[in-house]
Amino acid sequence: MKLLQLIGGFLYAVRWLIVAVLAIGVPLYVYFAFIAKDPVFGPKEDVELGKMSAQSIAEDPKEYPILPESEYPEAYSHLRRIVGGVIGSPEIQYRDVFAYDQMKIINRDDVLNAFCTPGGYIYVYTGLIKYLDQEDHLAGVLGHEIAHAEKRHGSTRLQKEFGVKGLTGFLLLTLPISPSDYINASILKELLGLSYSRDQEAQADEYSVRYLATSDYACDGTAGFFIKLREAGDDVGIPEMLSDHPDTGSRVSAIQGEAKRLGCSTEPADPSRWKAFQQSLPQDEPAEEAAPE
Ligand SMILES: [Zn+2]
Repeated sequence: MKLLQLIGGFLYAVRWLIVAVLAIGVPLYVYFAFIAKDPVFGPKEDVELGKMSAQSIAEDPKEYPILPESEYPEAYSHLRRIVGGVIGSPEIQYRDVFAYDQMKIINRDDVLNAFCTPGGYIYVYTGLIKYLDQEDHLAGVLGHEIAHAEKRHGSTRLQKEFGVKGLTGFLLLTLPISPSDYINASILKELLGLSYSRDQEAQADEYSVRYLATSDYACDGTAGFFIKLREAGDDVGIPEMLSDHPDTGSRVSAIQGEAKRLGCSTEPADPSRWKAFQQSLPQDEPAEEAAPE
């Protein structure tokens, strides 16, 4: 009899524990996974997240051979000038919080890409700089990447991850208390290979125009990159900007439409500085001349 009572009491307790877990855990899960639009952690945590990404990039020089600023100060001063033009926009919210001044050039001519981590760590490949014909186009691409950071697209995505993991943590009574507690190598890797949603891509395109509207650059600069890619055909690899939204035609019209709506200048900037930037990068070793017979 006593044993039965004991079991009864135990089952009663277990039942309430399950009810309590469901009552708190399910709404948390639904909130994080489906309802919450803005990241739960703030812009400062974005910087923490970006710093961790930057560290993992620095530890992988084979994949990310960083061009040293000490050896290529001129290239970096060109890049700083262009980033400065973009983040000079009054639309930029996190100029003083994010790490936009930590920009890096990755010395790989085979990659036509640029990206910006949460918290504003900017990376630009030499391949992209050499590929583009105008400074305005790089300014546009950077505006697009900076918009992903400013609009906190990466952290929003990560938050969904956090929602699921947070629930698991809750059920195991190991609820994480800060981003660094649950950001592990696999999440970081995912973050670096991030592909954004179509809505996020469209918003980044739109904001690239807004950021450039107050700069010296043609405000539809991003469109120039898409037009060139389209002309080059499909065999140029898939840059971040096209990862989930490859319909360049409609993106070009949306960008040009936004430029028209804002009435901003689409006149290209002075081309001489762009050539100087390209020439300040390491140049391909000239093919070895055949030795004279
Ligand atoms: Zn993008």
